[in-house]
Amino acid sequence: MLKGYVPPYNATVVQKLLDKGAVLMGKTNLDEFAMGSGSTDGVFGPVKNPWSYSKQYREKRKQEAHGENEDSNWLITGGSSGGSAAAVAAFTCFAALGSDTGGSTRNPAAHCGVVGFKPSYGLVSRHGLIPLVNSMDVPGILTRCVDDAAIVLGMLAGHDPKDSTTIQDPVKPFTLPTFADVNKLCIGIPKEYLAPELSSEVRSFWSKAANLFESEGAKVIEVSLPHTSYSIVCYHVLCTSEVASNMARFDGLEYGHRCDINVSTEAMYAATRREGFNDVVRGRILSGNFFLLKENYENYFIKAQKVRRLIANDFVNVFNSGVDVLLTPTTLSEAVPYLEFIKEDNRTRSAQDDIFTQAVNMAGLPAVSVPVALSNQGLPIGLQFIGRAFCDQQLLKIAKWFE
Ligand code: GLN
Repeated sequence: MLKGYVPPYNATVVQKLLDKGAVLMGKTNLDEFAMGSGSTDGVFGPVKNPWSYSKQYREKRKQEAHGENEDSNWLITGGSSGGSAAAVAAFTCFAALGSDTGGSTRNPAAHCGVVGFKPSYGLVSRHGLIPLVNSMDVPGILTRCVDDAAIVLGMLAGHDPKDSTTIQDPVKPFTLPTFADVNKLCIGIPKEYLAPELSSEVRSFWSKAANLFESEGAKVIEVSLPHTSYSIVCYHVLCTSEVASNMARFDGLEYGHRCDINVSTEAMYAATRREGFNDVVRGRILSGNFFLLKENYENYFIKAQKVRRLIANDFVNVFNSGVDVLLTPTTLSEAVPYLEFIKEDNRTRSAQDDIFTQAVNMAGLPAVSVPVALSNQGLPIGLQFIGRAFCDQQLLKIAKWFE
């Protein structure tokens, strides 16, 4: 829909970077309109994970005699901001921006072995970010280490008159101490995050990380986020409903693509949208319009908003009980080969992969994915830290200690 479209102004985050003297290297590939968890549904084709070409992974595949040629077993990056994660992982840039509505910065960061940080909702301006779900979208930051993420956050954070949801209070610098200390911190492990689909390797690194905190004097406790199991469906209803409304602006008149049909305005709208959107986007528009129908609105949209409040309150309760930060997996497993990812029901898989990340967006909290180790296959695994709203600096401090 927006192929070849050149926006007439810069997003606030882009302008802030330019004002500080940053050099912009280019735009990165992603799933169309940031809908997806694989970076396999973009108009420029799928994004390849640079780790596909690591020696260890290549040798492992050979040993296991998968019988494919060199080019058929490359890995997905995760998504939707997979191009940004790949660019940072491949050392082509210092940092990259992504967008994070349900995990799109943290998920590819975990799969590409980089840091993926989603700031608190309202800390960084969304002006100029193409909306997916306005009430959940946050510009994300991808870097190779936590200190770099703090530097970029310092450049981006703060009130923007063009985004009324940004905080009014002046922001303090986000510099992190050289040696952080986790003694006496309280780390919560949400028991509902022990998902049956979680790979045994991720599970084992998760518990090793918890032990590490404990051995350094932190208190590690099991906590409960009881509404977690509703998170994926709740996100789906809210996301598609906002998508249905947001995508209405792409009508072939103002932005990007317009079809050749000119028998009537309606026919032009329909053909433009059929040609301009992929099936993921069209599917979400249809679902969202279904949930917003007069007879469904109360039962779906309003109910999902209530459930969202319950999900957000779970976090509030846990933090009010004295927990400083939550430690969770970022994804169910390491990155999978593209051919595997598209084989099974891609959409279902995508939705499941967001289980650890979406609730954070519904609650507006800051969260960061940090690379923890390499799997047996020689591929990166990430763990996620979730912090209290607007305690982004404390969150990054703990993540820095851990990395
Ligand atoms: N995977 C989620 C979705 O497809 C999240 C996307 C995102 O954070 N941009 O909606």
